[in-house]
Amino acid sequence: MVCEYGSELKRMVEVARVHTENGKLADYIPALTKANPNDIAVSIFDGQSTCFSEGNYNQRFTLQSISKILTLALALIDHGEEVVFDKVGMEPTGDPFNSIVKLEAHKPSKPLNPMINAGALAVSSLILGESANEKVDRLIAFVCQLSGNDFLTYNAEVAQSEFETADLNRSLAYFMKQHGVITEDVEELLSFYTKQCAIEVSCEDLARIGYVLANKGKNEDGIEVIPADVARIVKTFMVTCGMYNASGEFAIKVGIPAKSGVAGGILCAVPNKMGIGIYGPALDEKGNSIAGMKLLELISERYELSIF
Ligand code: GLU
Repeated sequence: MVCEYGSELKRMVEVARVHTENGKLADYIPALTKANPNDIAVSIFDGQSTCFSEGNYNQRFTLQSISKILTLALALIDHGEEVVFDKVGMEPTGDPFNSIVKLEAHKPSKPLNPMINAGALAVSSLILGESANEKVDRLIAFVCQLSGNDFLTYNAEVAQSEFETADLNRSLAYFMKQHGVITEDVEELLSFYTKQCAIEVSCEDLARIGYVLANKGKNEDGIEVIPADVARIVKTFMVTCGMYNASGEFAIKVGIPAKSGVAGGILCAVPNKMGIGIYGPALDEKGNSIAGMKLLELISERYELSIF
């Protein structure tokens, strides 16, 4: 792996880094403005050798929306498809991740998919646990298993920063409570949701989780961490709505199941091949890492990774 990707990947990272100048850090969660906008990094894990990384790969960052695929996987394991898809639909929206419009427009008022905030909140309400803290402990244990990293935890400062400013997500949750999509206490749900979004990882953690999804739910030792069916459902959502309302363009330009987050991470699962983790906190106007998208375009083209 090292020989195969070595200098090429280094060059691609530097080509992509130029694009960080055209992006902007997310600032609606105040703590995210502490990142260095010029950072860009990639890790690739194919299960055969050690993870190969380039750029600012030592930087840790929070999962943000990438956590949505992990809560979805855990909810599917806990409850099965019928219960989960009774609460949330399967269709892309083409709207920004935090949009409220389709919630009201669509009857019954269930969110259209688990990758937009409303849908993610509905899925988070399904995670088993007596309290927000119990739920987050369960989720972190699950993410540790997927990544093979036992030391993951959430960043309390980022979680608190989002909790204090999450009025849009609060309004989505209250709307859904009024319409019976969720039943639990909204503040407790917000407490869990902001902590799940604040789970802190590295590019390598993302690449290793991506590998498990790519490898039909099995880790590099052949141990099933999630059922193959759950891995398939998660990857499908990554293709149809993993990159916000740029998912169609991303499918054409990159063609890899991927999920991004507003802290600048992108988790990719190249079916039967590898997991790729990206970090680049400068975002484009849709909320995707601007240099990360460029880097994935270069990598996908060079190594012919598009699934299409
Ligand atoms: N915690 C963020 C929010 O709910 C996640 C958004 C994202 O990464 O897309 O607004």
